[in-house]
Amino acid sequence: MIKVHSIETFWTHEWPWIRVVVFMQWCLMKCLYCHNPDTIKLSWWEEMTKQDIISLAQKSKSYFWTKWWLTFSGWECLLQAKELLPIFKELKKLKYNVIIDTNWHIFNEDVEELLKYTDLVLLDIKHINEEQHKKLTWVGNENVLNFAKYLEKINKPFWVRHVLLPWYTDDEKHLNDLWDFLKDFKNMQRLEILPYHTLWVYKWKELWLKYMLDEVIPPNMEACLKAKNILEKHIKNVFIRR
Ligand code: SF4
Repeated sequence: MIKVHSIETFWTHEWPWIRVVVFMQWCLMKCLYCHNPDTIKLSWWEEMTKQDIISLAQKSKSYFWTKWWLTFSGWECLLQAKELLPIFKELKKLKYNVIIDTNWHIFNEDVEELLKYTDLVLLDIKHINEEQHKKLTWVGNENVLNFAKYLEKINKPFWVRHVLLPWYTDDEKHLNDLWDFLKDFKNMQRLEILPYHTLWVYKWKELWLKYMLDEVIPPNMEACLKAKNILEKHIKNVFIRR
């Protein structure tokens, strides 16, 4: 059984391919800008079996173009790595392409095993500086950065995604430190800049949670391009995702 928050069977947003996305419940971070604060706690979920997921994948096959993509996303799917393992094995037998979308704050033997059945990893790096990372997410970034190194070591393709948040992650020093960390990774296929936005703030209000970024204005295109210019001096395939 896995604990699922919701499922999108025809996800075309943020991705060049049509895919099914399984959003899983529970997260160990508490990002100030979390767009799904309702998934952080281990409550408000539905339990699904391996067969439920396989049937869903099979039913969705006709939507896909050349490849059948399934993404297991967060709020932190790796917290349920052990339960996901038989599902991933079955999906690979059926020739699906499996993606993990993670903040990568957890690593154990189950995760290691799960990666053997994973085609692509989408890795969120929230901040390259440990202290700033803690301010943004309430936890340090050591595990996250070690994960990127581990992916390189096992030769696993990955994309890095980074939220551009004014006052927190848009200064030149931070962006320079970010490319400096990432520039030598050969398995990193692309780096995506995700401009901060406020579309989900209403969820915080509905849950009666205090939203700490009320005064932060989303970056304009000029700020996004400035960040892109800094990063792409040393890294190939930098994209701004809208
Ligand atoms: S890692 Fe994702 S789900 Fe977890 S708190 Fe941050 S934004 Fe929310």
